[in-house]
Amino acid sequence: MKPEERDLTDFFGLTDFYSLIKMVVNFADNTKALNRNQLEHSIRRNFGGFDPETFNPMEFFEKYCNMDDLKLAKDDRPPVDSIRIIQASLSGEDTAFEGMESRYLLILTENLSVLSIILDEFYSKNIHPEVVFGSKFRDDISYTQVFHNVYRIKKCMDMGKPVILLNLGDLYESLYDTFNRYFSTWGDRKYVDLGLGDHRVKSFVDDKFRLVVIADKNKVHSQFPIPLISRLEKHYLSATSLLTDEQKRVKKDLENWAKEFVTPQIFYKTVCPPSCEGCGAELIRPYKLTCQLHFIGPCCKEKIENGLMERKCPVKDCGEEIWLEEWVMDSVALKNRQYFENSSTQTAFIGYSTEMTALAVRKAAEQFDGKI
Ligand SMILES: [Zn+2]
Ligand SMILES: [Zn+2]
Repeated sequence: MKPEERDLTDFFGLTDFYSLIKMVVNFADNTKALNRNQLEHSIRRNFGGFDPETFNPMEFFEKYCNMDDLKLAKDDRPPVDSIRIIQASLSGEDTAFEGMESRYLLILTENLSVLSIILDEFYSKNIHPEVVFGSKFRDDISYTQVFHNVYRIKKCMDMGKPVILLNLGDLYESLYDTFNRYFSTWGDRKYVDLGLGDHRVKSFVDDKFRLVVIADKNKVHSQFPIPLISRLEKHYLSATSLLTDEQKRVKKDLENWAKEFVTPQIFYKTVCPPSCEGCGAELIRPYKLTCQLHFIGPCCKEKIENGLMERKCPVKDCGEEIWLEEWVMDSVALKNRQYFENSSTQTAFIGYSTEMTALAVRKAAEQFDGKI
């Protein structure tokens, strides 16, 4: 199914709504007076998952709920900006109330490289999560391998070690009860069913256990089963969205440099430009002028021949006189142009993506202690 074929109105469901209400009630209950941060934090955590530039849940809530009377928290907690919300969600420190458990996370990204950002979050707290990375290679989707992965997750549940799952579509079905937080208790211990085909295994779940699914945004929107999406707390994370304005400017400069690096100098005499330098029409049959630098099409060639245009190179700073000889179409210059037309920054550098540039800028900024 292609992304545009699926209606995204089902993206949020009742689970998200209940979870929002539960979070708001718990905040109000435990702190006795609800503040603006608590409400916004709850909304963003339960109705996230989109690039804030395309969908911002706050716009809807602000339109229909009156939030003007709520005061901002003096200590700016719980946080309301993207990365700090994810941090809060991973650590659970802002919502550590009795009877309030955070859902597990689904992080939608443009590029799986954000894994390093999530890992840094864990490492900064001296936590070393288990990363389980799936693939579509034949041996990786075999029953044995899926079983092996389920076993690794089971071990982490038991130890309370966070697990990050990437590319593991074949495994999510086994974890539905876990995603649902459908726990049974025995004494004060929590258990969940892990399924694998017809098999069911009871697994102990430590309170510290966290599960994070990282997946490509378009894949989630087009292919992830809705019941799976609705069970998880959704966040959108891209390296670009985490840059400061200054860093975004550096990123733009770097990208422009990279683009310029792979773009041929079109005025170089063996590559013709895409449009006629006399009138700007599309240049399909380029004729090189006497200056040996500029090109015109049949459009202007005819005008010059008929005396409707000056016998001078029409390029402003050139203006070299044109000798009327036999005009020959420069097919080499055209071929060269066509060759370069298909080259872009993406095709020129293996593995290039604007997200990688953003990550590089972030890393550099950290190295320079935030001085760029
Ligand atoms: Zn022309
Ligand atoms: Zn010229």
